[in-house]
Amino acid sequence: SAPSILVTGGAGYIGSHAVLALEQAGYQVVILDSLEYGHQDLVEQHLNATLIKGNTTDRDLLDQLFTQYDFVAVMHFAAYIAVGESVTAPADYYRNNVYGTLNLLQAMQVAGIKQFVFSSTCAIYGPPKTVPIPEDHPKNPISPYASSKLMVEMMLKDFQKAYGLQSVCFRYFNAAGADPQGRLGEDHNPETHLIPLVLQTALGTRDHISIYGTDYTTRDGTCIRDYIHVADLADAHVKGVQYLIDGGETAFINLGNGNGFTVKEVIETARKVTGHPIPALECGRRPGDPPSLIGSSEHARQRLKWTPQYADLETIISHAWQWHQKRHG
Ligand code: UDP
Repeated sequence: SAPSILVTGGAGYIGSHAVLALEQAGYQVVILDSLEYGHQDLVEQHLNATLIKGNTTDRDLLDQLFTQYDFVAVMHFAAYIAVGESVTAPADYYRNNVYGTLNLLQAMQVAGIKQFVFSSTCAIYGPPKTVPIPEDHPKNPISPYASSKLMVEMMLKDFQKAYGLQSVCFRYFNAAGADPQGRLGEDHNPETHLIPLVLQTALGTRDHISIYGTDYTTRDGTCIRDYIHVADLADAHVKGVQYLIDGGETAFINLGNGNGFTVKEVIETARKVTGHPIPALECGRRPGDPPSLIGSSEHARQRLKWTPQYADLETIISHAWQWHQKRHG
């Protein structure tokens, strides 16, 4: 029978796209998701996976799952992701993101599962000293969210040495876009990300988009980010798990498309894609935003033979627009 993989957070934005890609690659998937933010309806409509509602902090549930199924690997997306909230409620972030992961790793150890794919973030680098950012850039997380991800990376290094656990940590830049066939997409509540907010403005559910800062030292004064298509992220995860199954050792790998776009370029492209004027209001800077974040993805290209298929901003926004119209239009 097909190899099975446990995907935590598989009902969320990036996780659900990864499940779709795993299923297309012939894996059988069990999703563990608390459904605090994940979408049960999307799993039921578009994925074959078995959905288990539960939390990574629940050790009894994990032990039961690992007894019931014979997983070749675990992919761990489940985490809280709101940077601002992590500053005011750090305990929730350390409990869910760090303790939840430790609990999962310990249950895996007992079950003898030695392959792990982890969702990390470019936020662990802090304000970049060099752009594009390579994986060996110094780590200076400036939020509890980013610290929680770096702590897990440190655990994974130590677990490799002590227990032989092999992992791939993917450090995402700005995940964006949606399934090219329109089945899945981004649906956060509350939404804080630029592209969905711009598209909500185009749909008329918001009256304008705020531009946070126009006095950065960038080509048009607004922040530059590396937007990476979620289907390209999903593809990297399939390659990452295959790399581990083939005997690959622990690796820390950036996932970005290597192209940066400014906030104004995103808005302008969205105007072109949607045909809507999308009113924009120039506002002050958002605290904690570095001027430019662009990743070097040479490792992903070389070690995983991964190449982004949808690196073009217009394609990314078109797919997101198709999804937003279907989900919220
Ligand atoms: N941004 C903006 N207006 C918004 C939301 C975001 O100008 O309503 C900017 C934000 O300051 C950053 C970029 O868009 O420079 C991307 O922000 P997002 O929250 O999407 O991702 P982040 O880079 O914070 O992970």
